[in-house]
Amino acid sequence: MVFGAGAFAGLAAEVERLGMRRALVLSTPGQRRLADEVARRAGERVAGIFAGAVMHVPVDTVLAARAAAEAVGADGCIAIGGGSTIGLGKALALEAAALAVAAGEAAPGSSGSVAAAERGRPSGALATLAIPTTFSGSEMTPVFGVTARGQKRTGRDERVLPRAVIYDPELLATLPVKVAGPSGVNGIAHCVEALYARDRNPITSLMAEEGIRALVASLPRVVADDSDREARAEARGEALYGAWLAGSCLAATSMALHHKLCHLLGGRYDLPHAETHTVLLPHVVQYNRDFAVEAMARLGRALGGADPAVGLFDLAQRLHAPLALRQLGLPESALDEAADLAMMGTYDNPRPLERSGIRQLLQAAWQGTRPGGAA
Ligand code: NAD
Repeated sequence: MVFGAGAFAGLAAEVERLGMRRALVLSTPGQRRLADEVARRAGERVAGIFAGAVMHVPVDTVLAARAAAEAVGADGCIAIGGGSTIGLGKALALEAAALAVAAGEAAPGSSGSVAAAERGRPSGALATLAIPTTFSGSEMTPVFGVTARGQKRTGRDERVLPRAVIYDPELLATLPVKVAGPSGVNGIAHCVEALYARDRNPITSLMAEEGIRALVASLPRVVADDSDREARAEARGEALYGAWLAGSCLAATSMALHHKLCHLLGGRYDLPHAETHTVLLPHVVQYNRDFAVEAMARLGRALGGADPAVGLFDLAQRLHAPLALRQLGLPESALDEAADLAMMGTYDNPRPLERSGIRQLLQAAWQGTRPGGAA
């Protein structure tokens, strides 16, 4: 982990330390110039750029990136961007590992990738260097997801965990307000569910509370529309620190109803990831509030003494983020099915899953009702 304003300047040294000689740089099309900058700074150790990362890591994108890696003989990848780009790096690492297993190069570990199963060509594993430019926290987790045939499959595999991370808040100076707020709340959501996770411990709770505090304190300043550039730069640093804690919490604990609902709604109705987190979080907290007393006390404290559900709703409002599922394009007619699907999972949650309560939660989230009051 390298953290701090200007840390990006140490890129070449990190690439060298990881022993990469022919790295493939990954980015979205919109962040291509940043990928070019990575290539310029890492010099001969970069063999190519794949600037085709998109949301939800479609298997076709994984295959295209894989082909690009093979074409240049890549021995590692540098993922620069948000959770979508880092997710592509993870899928590529998993794919390479699965292919290596198929070729007898490594011991079988876990499931393997969809794409690998479909292609079956051998290759070595790829180390990943992640350079996050949002607050998703993905760079810290062994959680991966790949979308194939309209379904996003997720899993945990230590082999997808980036070997190194460069956190440089200066890279977030270009982050649009509409990405910054929801991605920060996505980070807060990891912390909230870590606070009441069945496998939490005193250290994860400490990290989760501090992660929420840092994100809540900094995000409004990150999106502030004023000319105090220094204050905004400092706020980006504090938020990135919160995101680091958030990713660490997600990596260390099991997530519950909130992540399950986001995953379900995102996959089934193609809703945007971070925005869905932002809209649902206050309502899931409201649902769980009486069943996770210590977690709610910590959450309230991290929110500066506010009521947990109301505090999260008001934060989203201050961040100019969406507040209602209807704003994300979800038809009201989908809510019954969504509640049914939510009941099917087998996952832990502080409050037992009750269909009527979940249906109510979804209705409030769809309408954008302020918890405990009017919209
Ligand atoms: P994203 O990566 O999809 O980025 C959104 C858009 O913002 C993209 O167009 C991107 O190019 C642009 N962008 C990112 N940083 C920018 C910057 N600094 N300046 C200008 N533009 C920038 O959004 P996200 O919210 O970071 O990631 C969402 C994805 O991450 C989802 O697919 C989600 O499933 C995944 N995720 C995974 C984990 C995990 O642990 N596996 C955790 C959280 C999120």
